[in-house]
Amino acid sequence: MEQALDKQVLLEVNHLNVQFQLKNGKQAKVVDDVSFVIHKGETVALVGESGSGKSITSLSIMRLLPMPPGQIAAGTIALNGKNLLELKNKDMSSIRGNDVSMIFQEPMTSLDPVFTIGNQMIEAIRRHQKVSKGQAREMALQHLKDVGIAHAEKVITEYPHQLSGGMRQRVMIAIAMCNKPQLLIADEPTTALDVTVQAQILKLMMKMKKEQQSAILFITHDMSVVAQTADRVMVMYAGQIIEDAPVRELFLQPKHPYTAALLKTMPSLETEMTRLPSIPGTVPPAYALPEGCRFAPRCPFVMAHCHKRTPEPRFIQPNHSVRCHLFAEEGALAYEGQRSAT
Ligand code: SF4
Repeated sequence: MEQALDKQVLLEVNHLNVQFQLKNGKQAKVVDDVSFVIHKGETVALVGESGSGKSITSLSIMRLLPMPPGQIAAGTIALNGKNLLELKNKDMSSIRGNDVSMIFQEPMTSLDPVFTIGNQMIEAIRRHQKVSKGQAREMALQHLKDVGIAHAEKVITEYPHQLSGGMRQRVMIAIAMCNKPQLLIADEPTTALDVTVQAQILKLMMKMKKEQQSAILFITHDMSVVAQTADRVMVMYAGQIIEDAPVRELFLQPKHPYTAALLKTMPSLETEMTRLPSIPGTVPPAYALPEGCRFAPRCPFVMAHCHKRTPEPRFIQPNHSVRCHLFAEEGALAYEGQRSAT
C-alpha cells in the first residue's frame, strides 16, 4: 500500500443524502449524511454489508443513479472543486469515462454484447480524445497488452461472450483506464472471480493506478481485499459512514463496535477456530431505520441514550473519525473543518 501522492483533495462529498421512493409509498433513506474526501493518488476502500449504501454512493458520484425512483435529496459531490450535481448532462458525460471511470462486479452489465471489444474500446477512446479510428485502434491494442492480454490482436475482434470472466474484467479495466481517469471507482470488481484471478486483477489495478497516478475508490464487503489494496478505509452501516481511518489503524485498533465486530468475522491464520463468528441481528431496512444509533439493536455496548440520539461523526485522531456515542466526549475533535485536512 502506498500513501497518496500528495494531500490535494480530488473528490469531496459533503452531507450526501439519497432517498428512494418505494411503491408502497414509503421513503427509504439509502444514503444519509455521508461526507468524505479522496486525495489525489489515494486508494480508499468503502466497506460494509449488502444494503449499507456503498453502491448507491458510487452511482451518485457517477450520476448514474436511476432517478426516479432515486433522488439526491441534499449534499454536494465536488471533483477538483466542481460540484458534479450541478452539471448539465452533456458536461457530466464528458467527465464520465474521462476524469472518473467505473468498473462493475459483472462486466457483462457494462460491455455491449453486440459489439466487438475493439469497437467498444475505440468508441470509448474517441469519445474523449481527438484521434483517428486507426490511432484509437492502436491505443486500444496497447491498453489490452497493458492489462496482460497477450493475444490482443485476436481479443480486439472478439465479442464479450467469447471471453472468460477474468478476461472480461481485464477488458473492463482497460476501457476504464484508457482515458487516464483521475478517479477510478471499482464496485466489487473481483467478487465474481476465483481467488487466483482475483489476486491477478487486484495486482493489475494497483499497477495501473501507479502508472497513471489515479486515485481509486474500492467498493467491497471483503476485508481481505481492503487489507491488500487500501491506504484508508471507510466503513458504512445502514446508509452512514460510521468509521474512517488509515487501513493499518483500522485493522489494529478499530473503534466503532460495528467495525470491531466486522473484523472478527474475518478468518485468521493465527487463531484456530471451527466456526467464524457472525454479527447477531441484521442491518435495518432503509425504510424502517431505528431512532438514534442505527447499530444500537446489535451493539454489545449500547447505552440508554443510543436509542434516542443519533451519534455525529467525530475525529478522535486527525485522520480517524468515528460515529459512536462512546467517543463523543469533549476531547474528541470537532468533525467539520477537520475532514479536508486529513
Ligand atoms: Fe453502540 Fe451506542 Fe456506539 Fe451505537 S452509539 S455503536 S449503540 S455504543
